[in-house]
Amino acid sequence: MRDVLVIGGGIVGTAIAERLARDGLSVTLAERGAIGREASWAAAGLLTPVHPWNYPESMLQLDAESLALWPALAARVRSEVGIDLEMRATGLVMPIETDEEAAEAQRRVAWKRDHGESAELLDAAAAREAEPALRDDALGALLLPDLAQVRNHRAAPGLAAAAARLGAQIQEDTAVLCLLHQGGRVCGARTTGGDVRARHTILAAGAWSGALLGEAPPAAAVTTPARGQILLLRTRPGALRHMVLGGDGAYLVPRADGRVLAGSSVEYVGFDRSVTVAGTSKVAAAVERLTPPLAAATLEATWAGLRPDTPDGLPVMGEVEPGLIAATGHFRSGIMLAPVTAEIVRDLVRGESTRDLAPFDPLRDVV
Ligand SMILES: Cc1cc2nc3c(=O)[nH]c(=O)nc-3n(C[C@H](O)[C@H](O)[C@H](O)COP(=O)(O)OP(=O)(O)OC[C@H]3O[C@@H](n4cnc5c(N)ncnc54)[C@H](O)[C@@H]3O)c2cc1C
Repeated sequence: MRDVLVIGGGIVGTAIAERLARDGLSVTLAERGAIGREASWAAAGLLTPVHPWNYPESMLQLDAESLALWPALAARVRSEVGIDLEMRATGLVMPIETDEEAAEAQRRVAWKRDHGESAELLDAAAAREAEPALRDDALGALLLPDLAQVRNHRAAPGLAAAAARLGAQIQEDTAVLCLLHQGGRVCGARTTGGDVRARHTILAAGAWSGALLGEAPPAAAVTTPARGQILLLRTRPGALRHMVLGGDGAYLVPRADGRVLAGSSVEYVGFDRSVTVAGTSKVAAAVERLTPPLAAATLEATWAGLRPDTPDGLPVMGEVEPGLIAATGHFRSGIMLAPVTAEIVRDLVRGESTRDLAPFDPLRDVV
């Protein structure tokens, strides 16, 4: 009997495995494919909600707590398994394209400062000086200098390797087929590699989580795939200095090696990871509009990933039934929220939870 079985080897499952193994628990993680090859690989790695002002306070508290945990997590992965997650505060600029956006930017500066974060309004000349790739006719820009990013595709493999060093069993190519029950509790799962019995089972299977909850799953915990398409551009290092976010939610994220990720669509097309002409054209048009010089960059790759969305757009974290804890439904914020999710699950497993998890309760009412 293991202490914990984690289902799913994305960033959420591997962060949980690492956290619990660090506490000395015996952990098995079952991943049906390779570690971290789904949404956690496909993401852009922004460590901020795209539009924080649209989020409820309960989410903003989680964000703040998770951001504070990220530097230590990145440092651990680097020191323990030699993988650099490239956590960098490149800052983010939002070009102001219309008078309405200028008024909105003023409100966002006030919002950021009320939340104790730095924010500056730049006039047109200062915006171009800060970010020369911005379009010439931008009226100005909102600069959020502290915002950070990570090289997300390295995170789940790094966390899995760190967990393995601490004694966790990481089982790739091992699909969970169904949950096992005994005495009114979930006591593990049947996998393609055999039964794994555990005192606590953690459901962290991303967009596929809902399917493992049986025929009558709690409504809030039913995850839906939300496809996002990304373009990877090859430019020279420094061609883009900051992350850039457009008013329509399109964004660019510069990596240290000169690559730039541009994203992303949000499409409800089932479990279909196809890259489409329509999806990529929309992102390409946003690149050309926001940062015209980057339209000349080489298009190195395109891909799509499936975000785990929920009926109310909030994550699902808490006990579903005795022995089963859900840690899923992180939609557009799973990279950012992985560290705090691991802490929440650890506290639930140890029976030490003091946070108000009602907004994320798998059994909450959703309309
Ligand atoms: C284009 C795009 C951009 C994004 N950008 C950002 C961003 O900038 N910042 C941010 O914070 N978030 C971002 N996200 C969201 C983020 O990627 C997700 O919220 C996060 O990766 C979810 O992590 P996860 O571990 O829950 O899911 P996944 O990474 O999808 O992992 C779930 C794992 O479970 C496995 N699994 C499924 N079923 C089974 C089974 N039956 N048995 C065993 N294993 C199973 C899967 O194979 C998979 O590896 C983005 C997502 C996309 C698609």
